[in-house]
Amino acid sequence: MPNISHDPSLLLPKKGKNLRALWASYRADPVPERFVEFILQINNLTDTLSALALRGPLFECRRLEKESLALFDVGTSHPVDEAKLKSLGKRIEHFCSLLQHYLQKENPQQDRRVPLLSAKPEAETGNNHQRISLCLMSTRGAHWQDLVTQLSYFGFHVLESTCEIPEVDNADPGIYLLDLEDRPENRWKDWIQNLRKRRPMSRIITLAAPEQFFAMHTALKAGADICLSKRVSLQHIMAQVLAQHTETEQESFRVLVMEDSPTNAYAIRQALESNGIAVEILHDPLESLKTIRHFQPDLILMDMYLRECTGVDVARVIRLHDEFLSIPIIYLSSETNVALQVEALRLGGDQFLTKPFNPVLLNAVIKSKIERYRSLRSSMRNDSLTGLLNHISSKQALAATLGTCGEKMSIVMLDIDHFKQVNDRHGHLIGDQVIRSLAWLLKQRMRHTDIIGRYGGEEFVLGLPDIDSEEAVEVINRIREDFSRIPFKGASGVVFRVTLSAGIAMYSDAMDTLTVLLERADAALYEAKHQGRNRLILAQGTPIHEQSNLSPLVLEPIMIKNAIH
Ligand code: GH3
Ligand code: MG
Ligand code: MG
Ligand code: MG
Repeated sequence: MPNISHDPSLLLPKKGKNLRALWASYRADPVPERFVEFILQINNLTDTLSALALRGPLFECRRLEKESLALFDVGTSHPVDEAKLKSLGKRIEHFCSLLQHYLQKENPQQDRRVPLLSAKPEAETGNNHQRISLCLMSTRGAHWQDLVTQLSYFGFHVLESTCEIPEVDNADPGIYLLDLEDRPENRWKDWIQNLRKRRPMSRIITLAAPEQFFAMHTALKAGADICLSKRVSLQHIMAQVLAQHTETEQESFRVLVMEDSPTNAYAIRQALESNGIAVEILHDPLESLKTIRHFQPDLILMDMYLRECTGVDVARVIRLHDEFLSIPIIYLSSETNVALQVEALRLGGDQFLTKPFNPVLLNAVIKSKIERYRSLRSSMRNDSLTGLLNHISSKQALAATLGTCGEKMSIVMLDIDHFKQVNDRHGHLIGDQVIRSLAWLLKQRMRHTDIIGRYGGEEFVLGLPDIDSEEAVEVINRIREDFSRIPFKGASGVVFRVTLSAGIAMYSDAMDTLTVLLERADAALYEAKHQGRNRLILAQGTPIHEQSNLSPLVLEPIMIKNAIH
């Protein structure tokens, strides 16, 4: 079995220790190579923290990275200025103790998103224990009323404070929104710096800044993460807050190493794994396609001479498959013949590195290639309006999950009701905003393992592996209800609400192909529309748990008769 069970959180304490050790080793022997190793380790930690969505330590780690890189840029002379090194040393200590504190206090393995059955807007439940806290610091409460209302619909518990930093648990990083209009420009700096000092783990977004370079620069320099001007729309603020919250939860990089020599394979594994990269070694080229499909590498590191064939032969076969066309392939070989290297690149490789390899360089090249590959892949896979998977990639993801999930999986088709009227009455831009809001809500409410795709215009598809139909119905019904409560503001200021309909199909036996399930979910959606919209229908033939008291048809009839007010 491939070795993909890397739990990045288990590596954190070791990585923290490594960081200290690398720093000590640079201080003992201040040569640039050691500084590079130290920076690579910070970069690696940033990736791990980001993958775990540990925003607090992540924030500190990013600062540390920035500060270190700035020192590296200073020039060629090492050691750099002693005072700067001392200050960096302090920051490293601060970060390591923060990390330790965090690891003791938190279980980083827990899913940090809002749980599947997330709370309703606070006004309706009075329950905020699962909610994400956010603090709005402004004396203009009324001005931000719409923002506060919208935030509450997306799972935020908003604390409003006029000037004092509210006492919240330090372990909760939270988000702070600072209204700059409240204070004269010469007092922002202290205000932001002070907050940053007291809440090093928080995200700080400043609002209502004047549209001037200097103002924005001051806010950012003082410690704000984002500075939004007076002119940005409420929707833009919402998008920024949500982006901070669901900060790119990057998975660790995966590299497939094709290498026939066990000694080389071992050395490569050591070099990459110590940088948090997940490695799979393959000795037999005949297994390559199967392994790539299973392991889904971000990059292939290819030995030039393998058993029975060359690395170039393998690369050519890999490149014959459309789905593997863009995976970067790096040859790693002792081959020094330039003509051969050029030929290897021409036939499907991306880069040539020679053995014996320099671990720092190898890691750096791999990382930059993977980053570029991932961003390219994301622009191909994700829909630009919502960031969700697009039509084709949602189908691919659903098919892949269907193949690997256990016995249970629900497929949901979801469509906004009377959406054409939204466009007709309020214009396309507001229509887009409605689509985006539903996408946000889905992202907030679903689990990491769920698939969320924009299937077409105002239609979405979801895949929920490993849960019963009762649970799926409960989750979707909750989303349906909450979505119907979100107030939208039309161009003329009129407030309106929108509903959605959904059809659910459950995977029930091995004969159920994705096409069949999508058809069933679609038929159920059609039935929901037919019965009057704003409802959820389980596809016919969907097995319901015996003790279930759920009706296989309409659940929770409509509360809002007309979709648009
Ligand atoms: P029903 O309740 O039956 O689903 O009615 P509907 O009006 O929602 O359905 P219909 O399929 O008649 O209209 C969907 C509309 O969605 C038509 C199309 O112009 C609009 N649409 C599709 N994609 C987008 C988009 O990206 N942005 C906006 N603003 N509108 C879109
Ligand atoms: Mg070999
Ligand atoms: Mg529709
Ligand atoms: Mg539609």
